[in-house]
Amino acid sequence: MATLRLYNLAVSLDDDFARGLAREAERRVGAKPAAVRLVKRGVDARGRVPYFNCTADVELPSDADAGALARRIGTNAAIPEAAPPLTAEPGREPLRGPVVVVGSGPAGTFAAWVLALNGYRPLVFERGKPAPERLRQIGRFNARVVGLDPENNTLFGEGGAGSFSDGKLYTSNRDPLIPRVLEFFVQCGAPPEVMTDAAPHVGTDILSRVVVRMRETITNLGGAYRFDARLSDLRVENGTVTAVTLNSREIIETGTVILAPGHSARDTYEMLLARGVATEPKPFQLGVRIEHPQGFIDRAQLGRFARDRRLVPASYDLACRVPGAPELYSFCMCPGGITLASISEPGHLCTNGMSFSPQASGFANSALVTTFYPGDFGTGPLDGVNFQRRFESAAFAAGGGDYTCPAQPVTHYLRGLNSPRNMRSTYARGRRYTPLAELLPEKLNRALFAGLPQFDRRIRGFVSDSGILHAVESRASSPVRLGRDPQTRQSTSVRGLYPCGEGAGFAGGIVSAALDGMRGALALIARHARPA
Ligand SMILES: Cc1cc2nc3c(=O)[nH]c(=O)nc-3n(C[C@H](O)[C@H](O)[C@H](O)COP(=O)(O)OP(=O)(O)OC[C@H]3O[C@@H](n4cnc5c(N)ncnc54)[C@H](O)[C@@H]3O)c2cc1C
Repeated sequence: MATLRLYNLAVSLDDDFARGLAREAERRVGAKPAAVRLVKRGVDARGRVPYFNCTADVELPSDADAGALARRIGTNAAIPEAAPPLTAEPGREPLRGPVVVVGSGPAGTFAAWVLALNGYRPLVFERGKPAPERLRQIGRFNARVVGLDPENNTLFGEGGAGSFSDGKLYTSNRDPLIPRVLEFFVQCGAPPEVMTDAAPHVGTDILSRVVVRMRETITNLGGAYRFDARLSDLRVENGTVTAVTLNSREIIETGTVILAPGHSARDTYEMLLARGVATEPKPFQLGVRIEHPQGFIDRAQLGRFARDRRLVPASYDLACRVPGAPELYSFCMCPGGITLASISEPGHLCTNGMSFSPQASGFANSALVTTFYPGDFGTGPLDGVNFQRRFESAAFAAGGGDYTCPAQPVTHYLRGLNSPRNMRSTYARGRRYTPLAELLPEKLNRALFAGLPQFDRRIRGFVSDSGILHAVESRASSPVRLGRDPQTRQSTSVRGLYPCGEGAGFAGGIVSAALDGMRGALALIARHARPA
């Protein structure tokens, strides 16, 4: 049997889905295929009538020439490539000590999984706590029962920032290993639809169980985990890593470290810089988070289909560049989600968005960000971190110093008003009316003043009293990049150190961080012999 992949198959929402897909596939190839398998399905709601836009693999009779058929059909067909195996030819260099993985976010977890699958028995060090304890702590923090725990919060702890996220599992990355990432999510308890949804969503409630199963899978394969285990120092001799220090007291001799601490481990960045690890500033996004009632977004995006359960909650993806002003775009849109404090450092406030699997909060939130370049904030390796801190500590103070969020209706912001009023939003620790223009960087104000009226043209009512801006969304991406050799994936200054994931500046998002971790692990395997 030959297999052909077909793209952009349109199936009506009112059709029996399997039958509609088979009919479309038959029409495209000009004959009845032996079998049709759904690969991806998304809803295209841009036109007057929404429809399913699908990718499917069709089995052709063995005498069919799939290549000729693909050429005849053109861009909407291709011969599918199988996802590559999660293995590499082991290298010759003997390991010195255990393979250490720092961080249990998506990058660290997927690196550990690939290492464990190949018999390299990784030792994972995570500064925070296991997911169930993390859940309890975050719940108590949001309910104002306890203060911020700098080691156990929405950023640090089992699963990393990925556990307390919106759980959107899509990426613009085209790496052929993507199906392997999704398969591991499904193997560990994510709904099977994540394999075929064009915009898969999991939700924090499911993710926090999935990451525990991932850990169990890795330990069953010979890996080991330690929580409350913060990498506090690195020993580097003759340009090679020779040991790591945990919690400033325990030294572990090792020559191989997968470094995946995420982009919020600022103390770790400082330590790495002090140890001579190549570190440079990189552009990053900073902005605010806007929240609207979900019903409004559904009506604006779907019109008469706004109550169709197959389509809601609706999302949006906005971008604009007005001449003379910095670009503005929406980022990490969370339909049916909540706005939260996404912080690890006391005295700082940063917003983000997450959701639970039913996406039923009744609100829609999204970051509105612009990009800051090294020239905007300085050229030192950690100048971007200091820039983030400046606005995070200003936001914390403006909120009253107890993680209440400074907020303002978007209409008041644009009109320069200062007339306090109550505001409804999902941010659990409360909002404090604040004239945000005085708080935000000037470049961001210019982007918002120019871009928001454009967004209002795209979604009528986007600028309205029910749109509440929350400040400040400062950690949409990493402000730092750790120098890395593209082939060996090791640090350009320290041999044996494999910087991975978002904190290394090479990924943004769960799936891309997972892919980066896997690629780092495969590079390590290609250099080192399997342990006895
Ligand atoms: C609220 C929120 C919502 C998000 N929503 C989405 C989404 O829907 N979809 C999406 O694709 N992305 C989302 N993201 C981004 C995504 O979570 C990150 O891009 C991804 O988690 C980065 O993975 P990582 O493994 O590189 O780092 P992280 O996930 O940040 O993990 C790093 C881990 O390292 C640990 N660590 C740090 N320093 C040390 C140390 N010194 N010693 C030991 N351990 C250490 C941390 O505790 C943490 O567990 C969201 C992020 C947030 C904060």
